[in-house]
Amino acid sequence: MERRDIVIVGGGHSGAHAAAGLRHLGYAGTVAIVCEEPDLPYERPALSKDYLAGEKAFERLLMHTGAFWEERHVELLLNRHVASVDAEAHSIRLSSGDDLGYGSLIWATGGRPRPLTCAGYDLKGVHPVRTRSDVDRMRLELETVLRVAVIGGGYIGLEAASVLRKLGKRVVLLEALDRVLARVAGPEVSRFYEAEHRAHGVDLRTGVKVDCILGEGGRVSGVRLHDGEVVDADMVIVGIGIIPAVEPLIAAGATGRNGIQVDEECRTNLRDVYAIGDCALHSNRYAAGAMVRLECVQNANDQAMVVAKRLAGQPAVYDAVPWFWSNQYDLKLQTIGLSLGHDQTVLRGDPATRRFSVIYLRQGRVIALDCVNAVKDYVQGRKLVIEGWAADPAALRDTGSQLKDIASWDRAPTPVADRVG
Ligand SMILES: Cc1cc2nc3c(=O)[nH]c(=O)nc-3n(C[C@H](O)[C@H](O)[C@H](O)COP(=O)(O)OP(=O)(O)OC[C@H]3O[C@@H](n4cnc5c(N)ncnc54)[C@H](O)[C@@H]3O)c2cc1C
Repeated sequence: MERRDIVIVGGGHSGAHAAAGLRHLGYAGTVAIVCEEPDLPYERPALSKDYLAGEKAFERLLMHTGAFWEERHVELLLNRHVASVDAEAHSIRLSSGDDLGYGSLIWATGGRPRPLTCAGYDLKGVHPVRTRSDVDRMRLELETVLRVAVIGGGYIGLEAASVLRKLGKRVVLLEALDRVLARVAGPEVSRFYEAEHRAHGVDLRTGVKVDCILGEGGRVSGVRLHDGEVVDADMVIVGIGIIPAVEPLIAAGATGRNGIQVDEECRTNLRDVYAIGDCALHSNRYAAGAMVRLECVQNANDQAMVVAKRLAGQPAVYDAVPWFWSNQYDLKLQTIGLSLGHDQTVLRGDPATRRFSVIYLRQGRVIALDCVNAVKDYVQGRKLVIEGWAADPAALRDTGSQLKDIASWDRAPTPVADRVG
């Protein structure tokens, strides 16, 4: 059996960043990335933004050129699915039946789009949005499609809706909960984005449940809702979250269910096995120590560097502040921190001006900000979140003062470590 010093399963953001990081740090052992996708590692965020819009060529999504990987002797084993792991023997088995041994294994498999479970989920014209090939298929069909139903009012569904409106499509967005972005943002942000989408011509509906997908001749023709109404559609885009791609590692004995449980060094309970990125369930100090999985590029990259450093012989622990962005129409949403468990929100600025921030507090301390077209708040609010400042809500609300000034005159911050529950 062939063997590599480090085998990375998954060539997405975290896997590729770990490999590049290892070489950057001078790691000299053999490194292989095994990935089921056929493409060189690429950046996913553009898939629901400029790539879907046809405004960015795929080559511009690549994290690095083929030459970059060759020069650094990172072996890319693409189009290969890892079916199982033997943690005792330190080896993985590919679907082809081939085995590959490892010294250390980095599990960086992200997640698969959560599929619809209702009748008609597999009709032609029903699309997830996770990979380049998902979006390529969608773009081909969009040449002839006019009516699109988007199921799910999370970031991906909303971003896709905004691109589709720009392309002149008729868009209905169906969200089961009573507001969009309910999982990640406060009501002020949800209401703002609902109004924006409606103003841009999206027929956005909340609190609606999908009964089934209807079809004609094997292709989608509409979506039937629980109340019996039929929404006509030539295409359905499904953005209802992901399921971490962890079955082979769980079967090998890794702890976890909704993700692989890791410690602050991204180590799993299996010897020499690490997990990073969307599939890594970790205790996050910005969520008061709660076990969370973060689905963002920041987390993927930062966890990748923790493991790269450790394997290159440098100490490292994961304690990065989470941040995220979303582009819809001419709106840039930037989030810093995690609003999970907030008990108070402060609205800073007027949503009617399309420039405002929502500041989330827990027990009087700033834990997160959602900033819409408000870059300065995002940049300055970062300090409040990282240092855990207690701040007077009236001062936070006052757009006449800057957040950086609040940080300098308010009560001294509590060290972050003391806030972890
Ligand atoms: C459409 C879209 C838009 C997004 N927009 C943003 C954004 O604006 N900002 C932001 O911060 N984040 C965004 N994200 C999230 C971000 O892309 C993810 O957090 C990031 O890609 C996670 O990286 P990862 O390495 O954990 O997983 P991935 O990038 O998903 O990579 C995992 C790879 O592993 C492969 N794989 C899985 N199982 C196996 C197996 N058994 N064998 C071999 N290979 C396997 C997968 O096919 C995949 O190629 C977006 C995601 C999507 C899909």
